[in-house]
Amino acid sequence: MIRPWPHAPRFIGSEIYRGSSYGAHHPLRVARVSTVIDLARALGWFADGQYVISPRAKPSALAAWHDPAYLSALMRAENGTLASDEARRHHLGTASNPIFPEMFRRPATAAGGSILAGQMLRHGGVIHSPGGGTHHGLPDRANGFCYLNDPALAILSLRSVGVRRIAYVDIDAHHCDGVEHGFAEDPDVMLISVHEERRWPFTGALEDRGAGQVWNLPVPRGFNDTEMSAVLDRLILLRLADFRPEAVILQCGADALMEDPLSRLALSNNAHLEVVAALQQVAPRYLVLGGGGYNPWSVGRCWAAVWGVLNGHSLPERLPPVAEAILRALSFPGHRMGKAPPDHWFTTLRDTQRTGKVSETVDARLHRLEARAVVWH
Ligand SMILES: [Zn+2]
Repeated sequence: MIRPWPHAPRFIGSEIYRGSSYGAHHPLRVARVSTVIDLARALGWFADGQYVISPRAKPSALAAWHDPAYLSALMRAENGTLASDEARRHHLGTASNPIFPEMFRRPATAAGGSILAGQMLRHGGVIHSPGGGTHHGLPDRANGFCYLNDPALAILSLRSVGVRRIAYVDIDAHHCDGVEHGFAEDPDVMLISVHEERRWPFTGALEDRGAGQVWNLPVPRGFNDTEMSAVLDRLILLRLADFRPEAVILQCGADALMEDPLSRLALSNNAHLEVVAALQQVAPRYLVLGGGGYNPWSVGRCWAAVWGVLNGHSLPERLPPVAEAILRALSFPGHRMGKAPPDHWFTTLRDTQRTGKVSETVDARLHRLEARAVVWH
């Protein structure tokens, strides 16, 4: 097989995620990136040179998008020397954005991975960085579990190596308010987001246009695989074909999966894998980030399968014992779904399909965006 890319895909990872937790009661108490790394290793899916260790971004690099005073506060919060008025100003030490031991190092590592990915993609390629995807972070404050905004930094990193037209596609259950804040008025950054309606952060309206290149699709509860296929064909791929990006960034949050405790959508991971594969054909540079995902089994299986698909591997019908053991060793403390997980969470990567009808709501909203695209031409 001849690859269309100059290099095999690269995986940017780090051990910082293993064992670090936002706290015993926070959704990000569960293992995520470490599971993906362990499963990919167990399946023999890291050839020589494919696994790249993420550097930790320096404050000077983070200042490409973030306010230096906020970066200073975030580092002092990790050291335990932050004054309470500053913590309030930057939304640090809240229930969503708690103080925890790696609260600067961990997001700075995700951001360092995204900055490195932009540089590595200069001449083309495919990169999966599941620690990235922190799409809520704002220039001067933490927001929605995100202390920094690594997708924004990835966009700026691509720019710094001469890549101008960038498409950012986001299939997380939540709207990418931080990224839209940064790039809504930049005509060379197309923003497409599919997210659950009436859910935090309550932004991402269907009517948002930015500079004409912002496409938001809020979807109702129960959103299924068939609907995501329709969204891929009627919105995502058509808009990307019009835009002709030099690079595509996919935020592949796993919280739109049915088993996720933080949303009410009903996708199987086949929906994610279909989007991942389709977008690989769109541009010569492709960065797939992680994002939300709060059920340790569904997020680990989804992103490991993403890495398999990016490499053209067929996904095993039943995982070998060494991979099954990784999934059996996971825990979901304090959640009913951790008590008696179904067997397929241990023995497979791919879910069964969750097909259904395209609801009238989704169909009508797709029509509205299609009509807008015709006018836009
Ligand atoms: Zn999310």
